[in-house]
Amino acid sequence: MNRPSVCAVVCAAGRGSRAGFEKNKLLVPFGGSTALEMSVSAFDFPAIDEILVAVSEEDEGEVKALCARFPKAKTVIGGDTRSRSVYNALLQTSCDVVLIHDGARPFVSRSVVEGCIESVRKYRSGVCALPSVDTVALTDGGYIRSVPARTRVYSLQTPQGFFAADLRAAYEKAFAAGGSYTDDSSVYAEFVSPPRLCAGSRENKKLTFAEDFSPAVPVPSPARAGIGVDTHAFGKPQNYILLAGVKIPSDSGLVAHSDGDVLAHAVMDALLSAAGLKDIGHYFPDTDEKWAGADSMEMLAQVRRLIAERGFAPLSLSVAVQAQKPRLSGYIDAVSQALAAALGIPKDAVGVSAGTNEGLGDIGEGKGICVRAVALLRSLR
Ligand code: MG
Repeated sequence: MNRPSVCAVVCAAGRGSRAGFEKNKLLVPFGGSTALEMSVSAFDFPAIDEILVAVSEEDEGEVKALCARFPKAKTVIGGDTRSRSVYNALLQTSCDVVLIHDGARPFVSRSVVEGCIESVRKYRSGVCALPSVDTVALTDGGYIRSVPARTRVYSLQTPQGFFAADLRAAYEKAFAAGGSYTDDSSVYAEFVSPPRLCAGSRENKKLTFAEDFSPAVPVPSPARAGIGVDTHAFGKPQNYILLAGVKIPSDSGLVAHSDGDVLAHAVMDALLSAAGLKDIGHYFPDTDEKWAGADSMEMLAQVRRLIAERGFAPLSLSVAVQAQKPRLSGYIDAVSQALAAALGIPKDAVGVSAGTNEGLGDIGEGKGICVRAVALLRSLR
C-alpha cells in the first residue's frame, strides 16, 4: 500500500497521582521544558501526520498553549479511564495508523517510533517492548503461583501502533464486554489478534514517581554546539545595513543576493551546523531567484523549523561582529532582543559583542563586515 497516514495519540489525561505532585506530572517543569512537551515533540517529524494529545478538561488550556508550537498537534478531551481517552482520540482521527503513546515517556527516540510504524505496515501491529531483566512471577494471595521462563517475558512500552479501524473495533467490543485494560495491546490481543512486538529502548522509560522527575535523571542526549561565519562587503547603494533584521544607518549597504543580513546568515549556519545539517547555501541557494532580496529573519525562522525537525531546539547563542563601521554600540540591545525572539530563547541566553579590526586587513579598512556565531542546541528527545 502507499504510505499510510499516521496519527500519534499522546495520553496525558491522567493525573499521575503516584508522583504526588499538586498538578498533572506531565506539566511540571522538567529537563528545561515539561515531560509532555518532550513527548509531543518526539512525534513532530515528517512521518507523523497528526498528533492528538488526550487531556483532561482541567489541563486543556495549558496543553493547548504548549501544543501551539507544534502545527500538527491538537488536544482532545480524554475520558475517565485511559481506555476511554484513547477511544475518544480514535474517534477524532481519520488517519490509517495510530500510535498510542504514554505522555510520561518523553525520551522515546525517533528510531523507536519509526520501527513501530514499520511493524504496523508489515504485521498490522507494533508494540514496543524490552526483554525483561527481572524474573517475574504470577502471584496469588502473597504466594508465587508460577514463574514464566524469563526469555519469554517482555516489558511493554509505548508507542503501540495499530490500524485505527482495528483498534476502534477492539475497544468497542471491550466496552461491550465490560473489561478493564491498562494498555492497548491487551485490548487488541483479546479482540483482534496477538499483537506483534517491536523494539523498545531502555531510555524510553516511563516517568512514574517523584524521583523520576529529579534533575538526577539525565536527559539522554547531550547538547550540541555549532559555529557559523559570514562576511559581506559594502558597496550596495543604500543608507543602512541589517543585523538580525535591525536597521542600522550606514553610508553603504552590504552586497548580497538576499537582504545582506550578515549576522542572521552566521547564526543560521551555526544552528544548521550544530544540528548536523548542511549550510545555508544548500537550503537557500543564491542561484535561486526565490531568495533574491529575501528577508533573512524569515529564512532564520525556516532554519529553526529545520532543526526542530531534526529534534533540536536552541539553548543559547553567542555572536561576535567585526566591523570598522558603522558604529554598532547603540544597536546591540535591539539585535540581542531580535535574536532571542527569533530563536525562542530568553534574552540573557544571547550574547552579542562588536569590535573593529583595529584598522587591520579588509575588515579594518572598512570594506565589509564579518560575523562569527556559536549556537548551542538541546535535544528535544
Ligand atoms: Mg551571507
